[in-house]
Amino acid sequence: MRVEKYYLRCGVWSGRPRAKLLQDETPEINIALTHFHIDHIMGLPFFAPLFEKGVRIRLFADETVLACSVEEMMHRLFAQPFLPMGMEAIQADLSFQDLSDAEIHTIGDATIERLELCHPGGNTAFRIRHNDKTVVYTGDFSHCDEHQMRRLTEWMENVDLGIVESTFTPQNYNANKSFGHTHWHAAGKIAMPVKKVVRCAPSPSCG
Ligand SMILES: [Zn+2]
Repeated sequence: MRVEKYYLRCGVWSGRPRAKLLQDETPEINIALTHFHIDHIMGLPFFAPLFEKGVRIRLFADETVLACSVEEMMHRLFAQPFLPMGMEAIQADLSFQDLSDAEIHTIGDATIERLELCHPGGNTAFRIRHNDKTVVYTGDFSHCDEHQMRRLTEWMENVDLGIVESTFTPQNYNANKSFGHTHWHAAGKIAMPVKKVVRCAPSPSCG
């Protein structure tokens, strides 16, 4: 049986799915990365399916926005001084794809659209449709650009699940503005049309 899995971030807990994944006869794993900040990729070296033969893994990113290819990022990560092993340790059938060459891409049974948002080093939000369900994942962003926020709010229409960054509170946002994140009040307004919202990436100092 062919089973497709989709990941939108490879943070520190991403090593967990091994047992479940290996129950699937032919797992195909699609990982779309909004950007390459360490909290979004640090799970990759511990993502057990990477080290299993017979697993197909595709890594996607908008390389124009990030000014770095996803393949280059992997070569930098899988190297000294971060890891004792290089890319040769990867046993899965791994491929890379730049999402910047089209507005909409088909990935397996899903379609994925992208929207550039303000964040130091760049960030791309994703809207993914699979069967009759739609998910938006914002990645990290700052709500400083009015045009982008209008587009993002329009994107949220008829979305079943919005996974929206809201790191700060309105009270501590200004003191941390240079980090390029948003606060829960602005995120809540943007996500108003969404049927279900998950707030993600809250700062530990925000409670
Ligand atoms: Zn970030």
